[in-house]
Amino acid sequence: MNKLLRFTKMILQSSKPKNAEKQNQDSDSMLLPAIIQNNRAAQQISAGELQRAIENGYLTIYYQPLVTHEGQIHSAEALIRLVDPAKGMISPRHFIPLAEQTGLINTLTKWVIINVCAQLKAWGESGHAICPISINLSPNVLINPNFFEFVKEQLGQQQIPAKYLQFEITEISQLSTKETISETLNNLRSLGITIALDDFGTGYSSLDYLRSFQVDSFKIDQVFIQNLDAKNTKNQTIVSTLVYLAKSLDLNIVAEGVEKYEQFQFLKQQEYPYMQGNLFSEPVPLSEFEELLQKGTLLPKGTTIKNNYQQIRKYYRFEFPHLVQAEMTVIEVNNKKVDLKTAHILIEDISLGGLKIQSHLSLPVASNIRFRFIFTVMNETFDKTGKLLWKNEGKSKTYIYGVEFDKSQVDDERLAPIINQMTALRYNQREIPDTPFIYEDASMFFNKDVS
Ligand code: C2E
Ligand code: CA
Ligand code: CA
Repeated sequence: MNKLLRFTKMILQSSKPKNAEKQNQDSDSMLLPAIIQNNRAAQQISAGELQRAIENGYLTIYYQPLVTHEGQIHSAEALIRLVDPAKGMISPRHFIPLAEQTGLINTLTKWVIINVCAQLKAWGESGHAICPISINLSPNVLINPNFFEFVKEQLGQQQIPAKYLQFEITEISQLSTKETISETLNNLRSLGITIALDDFGTGYSSLDYLRSFQVDSFKIDQVFIQNLDAKNTKNQTIVSTLVYLAKSLDLNIVAEGVEKYEQFQFLKQQEYPYMQGNLFSEPVPLSEFEELLQKGTLLPKGTTIKNNYQQIRKYYRFEFPHLVQAEMTVIEVNNKKVDLKTAHILIEDISLGGLKIQSHLSLPVASNIRFRFIFTVMNETFDKTGKLLWKNEGKSKTYIYGVEFDKSQVDDERLAPIINQMTALRYNQREIPDTPFIYEDASMFFNKDVS
């Protein structure tokens, strides 16, 4: 194991001196919303103002979900915000250092812990969906001799199982406090609280931290994730080595600051168990977070379907895991109504704009013939009209057709959420319920078909 730690250290160091500082500055400026960057002066606050902000209730907590690589919300990080009536929203990057210098960090951290515990209690009591919440701790807080007792008291008072609390810690500069910190962390862990090592890889002693402190997980600094493009092979090597290190040490690992789909794909490929970043959700206020939590899953942005006709050609089509039985009838030829027999069809894929189907009938692809399609997915029955756009020969005497629904039927408020739900289910490798799938070959199905 020591060999592995040494190897990882070598990789981290070979990348750090050249870029780490600059990248830190870059990512720092990326982290600040435009409004804050444009208005840096207004963001400066004094110790007195900070004290008053705490007393006047100008603090609020935003929540950012951590998701599994399958899109399930696993937990969330509590991120503090200061909403000043005159100055607007102030980033913690502007007041946490001040709070640390002045000692106000203790009051501020207690406020966060009290609020998070109260929230966990409220979710538990109301039967709302619930997940572990992670709270950031400045090193100074951990050397406060009363801290452990305070946390224990809160958990007891609010009757919250300790597994719902996690603390995120960062590196300390004074090595003299290492022992005190280690003791506090062990005490917290003995209650059942988990500890994560934050901003891993950018400090100077990340690996020593892993060795010296008992932690449950580590969060790779955003710098490594945000520079994960195909050309940056060094960065890719670091990111894949770190997940290997985590597995070998039996620790959890989180990739922070995931912003792009390609980054998500790379991390998924590397079997990163947990990810956090704007690609899934920015930090959001409580009410929004509660909605996310009730849904339980969070797909990377760009995977969902917009209910808008202009988007139709770009629609992603949902491909069913098995063919779905449905019915089709010719209803109009040359604008004249006809009354023909209904035929069975099988659906391969579906979008808001149409279907891909199989039939044993050879039909003409012509715009003057209109069809009616009746199908059921997830217990909802749809009855739509449309025409055939193209035709291909399928295997063993079947024909494959592209169906386009009539324009008036594309804005379907029932179908869009169903396609989204099916996408989420597939993504999580779950069964799609209440849908008439067939599990045999299409030609066998049509051979049995007597219609
Ligand atoms: P952190 O602990 O590293 O938190 C992650 C920061 O990255 C958050 O910034 C979050 O909004 C941002 N972030 C998350 N996903 C993305 C992404 O995809 N792209 C980009 N560019 N940024 C992303 P935030 O909320 O401004 O917090 C900044 C720092 O302030 C935190 O960094 C943490 O060190 C500190 N902080 C926040 N709340 C607390 C607190 O309650 N106590 C203490 N001691 N520190 C706190
Ligand atoms: Ca953090
Ligand atoms: Ca971090």
